Amino acid sequence: MNGLLDVALLLPWCCAVAWVCWRQRAILANGVALLPDQCKLAQSVGVRDIGRVRVVVTPQVPVPLPAFAARLARRAGWMRPAIAGMTLGHGIVLRADCADDRRLLAHELTHVAQYERLGVTRFLRQYLREGVWPGYPRGSLEIEAKAAENRDSMGGQDVIPYMPIPSAKTRFDSQV
Ligand SMILES: [Zn+2]
Repeated sequence: MNGLLDVALLLPWCCAVAWVCWRQRAILANGVALLPDQCKLAQSVGVRDIGRVRVVVTPQVPVPLPAFAARLARRAGWMRPAIAGMTLGHGIVLRADCADDRRLLAHELTHVAQYERLGVTRFLRQYLREGVWPGYPRGSLEIEAKAAENRDSMGGQDVIPYMPIPSAKTRFDSQV
């Protein structure tokens, strides 16, 4: 690939990275720190810089698309109608009616740990790639987050072993 196609692919990618960094900064500035019990949860899923994590609760989780594009994407089935939570680096956004859902928090904190391990650009590259193949939510990042939420709800026991393989069967959820 070269020339115009490179630019055409590079621009949306740069916009996505910039959007994540911009949103993360806003969440870190305005969000609340984890409670002691939530810190233990963060530790259990492998978050290293627990003190940096901030959580924002909003009526609707924002997406990096203009409103009309988000509507089209939902109609086409490319995006879930209501996203319950989203993680952007050390910033977590939770939809208000899911704010007390500990399983959801375990899921999102696992994504924080993944951001820490991979960095923003590598996480996004892998997450988006896995969204195409093997497809959401069968990618290794989602499977790890799903395993963490199940493990926490079962008192620390793995009920769904972490298997980063495309064919692993997991239920469809509404998290990112
Ligand atoms: Zn997820």
